[in-house]
Amino acid sequence: MTGKLLLIVLDGVPYANWRRYFGALEGWVSSGEAQVWRMRASLPSMSGPCYASIHSGTPPQVHGVLSNGHIHRVQMPDIFSQTRLAGGTTGAVTHSWWSAFFNRAPFDMVRDIEYDEPESTSINHGRFHTMTAYNHDNQATPCDADLFATLTSLCKRFDLTYGILHTCTLDSMGHRFGHDCIQMDNACALMDAMLANFLPAWRAMGYEVIVTADHGQSLRGHHGGTGSDQQDFALYYFGDATGPSRDTLLDQLQLAPTILSRLNAPIAETMKAAPFLG
Ligand SMILES: [Zn+2]
Repeated sequence: MTGKLLLIVLDGVPYANWRRYFGALEGWVSSGEAQVWRMRASLPSMSGPCYASIHSGTPPQVHGVLSNGHIHRVQMPDIFSQTRLAGGTTGAVTHSWWSAFFNRAPFDMVRDIEYDEPESTSINHGRFHTMTAYNHDNQATPCDADLFATLTSLCKRFDLTYGILHTCTLDSMGHRFGHDCIQMDNACALMDAMLANFLPAWRAMGYEVIVTADHGQSLRGHHGGTGSDQQDFALYYFGDATGPSRDTLLDQLQLAPTILSRLNAPIAETMKAAPFLG
């Protein structure tokens, strides 16, 4: 394999918030180090279905995760399995659903909270969190700087070919506060600053980096349905490849084959969408 890539998924960040609050990311767009597009989530624009679409490159109607109540092992090839087929090493610092969807289900909190399995055909190095008892008032999310540091540690220790980081902090903030409020302004700015503290190191280690969301949110903090507010988010790409014109609306199903093409890993037959980077 020749490519290395990190996928950073900030859960539930609508397109407008990316473009107005993530000043560090936008600064790298201005300076030419990053490219940005708008991407649209599959339907329903709900977290579980979107995670499965992001990683399998298939819509919920095919992969079968049709709501957050359908947490099971997805029986489709995905970015982890295809990267492993090509001999790459995979890592994940995410919510436990990613382990359940793409490695094994149900998630056993003690067995699966972290694992290092070099021979695995899916996730070699996993570090997970469950957000057990999450509710409107108690987000139950880890600190995002800790998650970024954990991913960086895995990259250094295991030379990951592909690593994914996913965090629900901003999705939970949106459900709690909505988006026209100082709490969200500050939360986005803090996330941007934490990310900016790690991103140059990832680039210096030779990684291409994609920063994006799984879906948007309405101003009231809802998602699951249709419309650009619930479905759309930004996608930032740091790397040497070129993409379509900036006004192109990308499809979430393009993400898996695009990442595999950057890694020089085989694109599964089930991934029908075309890569957008070349
Ligand atoms: Zn989500």
